[in-house]
This record gives sequence, C-alpha cells and structure tokens, in this order.
Amino acid sequence: MIPTQIQTWQMSEPGKLARTSIPVPVLKADEALVEVKGCGVCHTDISYYYMGVPTEQKPPLTLGHEISGVVVAGPANLVGKEVIVPAVMPCNNCDICRSGRSNRCLGQKMPGNSLGIYGGFASHIPVPAADLCVVGDRRGMPLEWASVIADAVTTPYQAALRGRVQAGDRVIVIGAAGGVGSFMTQIAKAMGAGTVIGIDVNDDKLKMMEKYGADVTLNPKGKGVKEIRDAVKACARERNITHNWGWKIFEVTGTKAGQELALALVSFVGTLVVVGYGTDQTQYMLSRLMAFDAEIIGTWGCPPKYYAEVLRMCIEGKIALEPFVEVRPMSRIEYAFDEAHHGRHKKRVILTPDF
Ligand SMILES: [Zn+2]
Ligand SMILES: [Zn+2]
Repeated sequence: MIPTQIQTWQMSEPGKLARTSIPVPVLKADEALVEVKGCGVCHTDISYYYMGVPTEQKPPLTLGHEISGVVVAGPANLVGKEVIVPAVMPCNNCDICRSGRSNRCLGQKMPGNSLGIYGGFASHIPVPAADLCVVGDRRGMPLEWASVIADAVTTPYQAALRGRVQAGDRVIVIGAAGGVGSFMTQIAKAMGAGTVIGIDVNDDKLKMMEKYGADVTLNPKGKGVKEIRDAVKACARERNITHNWGWKIFEVTGTKAGQELALALVSFVGTLVVVGYGTDQTQYMLSRLMAFDAEIIGTWGCPPKYYAEVLRMCIEGKIALEPFVEVRPMSRIEYAFDEAHHGRHKKRVILTPDF
C-alpha cells in the first residue's frame, strides 16, 4: 500500500512536537519508501529536542534515526522486503567512501537530521535504497526490535572493530549498562574478549550486565580514580591476568567523569576508544600516550556493510535485544521523550506507529 500522505510527529521547533501529515515525495530511481515498523528513541534525538544541538535540516523536521520497516515502493528487488535503515548512509561516491571509511563520509545522510525533513517517527520514510539492510529470516524476532540495530548496536560493533577486539582481550567498558554501552559490553564479549569489566553508575542495570557479557562490574559512584584503578588491579589479580598493559577501554558515556576515568585507566600499549559524545573539555598529558605507546581512537557510526553481520549476531542470540528494548505506541512519543530526557527509561524505547 503506497499512501499519498506520511503521518508524522514533527519537531516544529526544539521542544515542540506536532502531529501532522506531509505528502509522499516522488521517489528518485535510487530511493525506496519504507513503511516504519519501529523507531528507537536515541539520546541524540533528545539532544536535538531539548538541549539545543542543531539538526542539519532546520525544523520543522521529523526526528528518529533507528528505523526498521518494510519497503512499499522503490526498486523492484526491494519492494516487500523487511529492512533496517542505517542511521548514517554514506554517499558511496567520495574519496573518504572509496578509502573504506564510509561511516564518516562528509556527504552522509542521517534520517531525522540531514535527510531533508524526513525521520523515523513517522508512518513512512523515503530513503536512499543502496544501503538498506534486508532482514530476511529473523526467526521470530520482532521486526520492531531490529530498529535499534541501526545505531545502538552497530555503533558499538564498529567501535569494537576500531579497537580491534579479539579473543582473550582485556576490556573495560565505561557506561557498560547504558543504551549503547550495554551492547558494547555484549559485543566485546561476543567478539571473544577474555575479561570484560563493566563500569556504570546504575547498580541495578550493572548487575544485569553480569548476565550479558560483563565478567566483573564496578560502580564508580563515590570513588576516586585511584580507588577505581585499584579495583581494576584487584580484579586482574583475582583473574590471574595482567593489570598494567594492553587493556582496551571503551568510553561510552561521553561525560567528563567518564572520559577522565577512561584516560586515567589508559596504560602501556593500551587503547582508548571514544564512543560517547559530550561537549566538556578534558585535560590530559598527551606525553603519557607516547610513554605508554598507547592510542586513542575516535569512532563514528558504522558502515552499512556491517549491518548484516550485526543483525545475524542478534538473530542468533550472540547479542541479546529482548532484555534491553521496550516497544511502545508512537502516539505516546511526547511522554517517551520526556522520560528519556529525565533518564527514566530502564530500556531502550522503540516507538511503533499507531498515530
Ligand atoms: Zn542514535
Ligand atoms: Zn562519501
């Protein structure tokens, strides 16, 4: 069914949502129209909506960039297929793309930010067809759940690749129980890490992570950096592994405290992968990196070509989605935004169109 109108919750201006309808545009040859089945609520949406982070497309626009759905119009080989829409879609035609770093293509399009006025909190969305991830046999996994693979699961996967996670690795995840961090923890373990230490300020969620990839958990609340370092050391001793070299640290919180802790934990031939985003300045004696022969790596999004592998890991249960997601009606979007803004979500919320 190809509609003439798209039902949507538009951000008319930051802090304001309006339920409205917009015409379905005439599709170009390389575009597809996706009927949205689920769209994840991401912290990025919240930062556009409440915190003054500007979207590339000025409002009014529809937010939402974690989308799964069904292709209802476009290339014949895709019509009727269930798909995940990548959160960032590269141009596939520039030097960065050709260099293999397409996830940071400067011409990339992101639904709910730079894909014109279109985003995932809508009944339908027109998208570039080239990089859609076809779902195939999902073995009973609800299609809505697959929406969070775009971003919340693929971003940490790419971070793990950037950190070259391999069998036996010693890993620390800061923000290990959060919306992205919980998947970072699971993925590090699924990729063979020998020891994963999960650090997070939320005790309940952290406890749960012990079932999903964290070998050891640590709440830094009320502890100084030295105390935390000592705790890591004690954990290493207990597990009979080395404490002072080769650790791979994934900073997912983007907070000043998290980043400062991450930097303090960097040691000999260590790796720090910066996954979270925040705007605070952090001080660090860069010569320590030189002395440690260590590295700091930034990571952004995930190339669409890896989506199929991440999807496979989810379908096969190597990455658990069910305990970490919650499906709600899209008509309750304002409530969901408010709750996310106040940090009241226990799980990643997926909105499913009901209008
Ligand atoms: Zn996001
Ligand atoms: Zn490009």
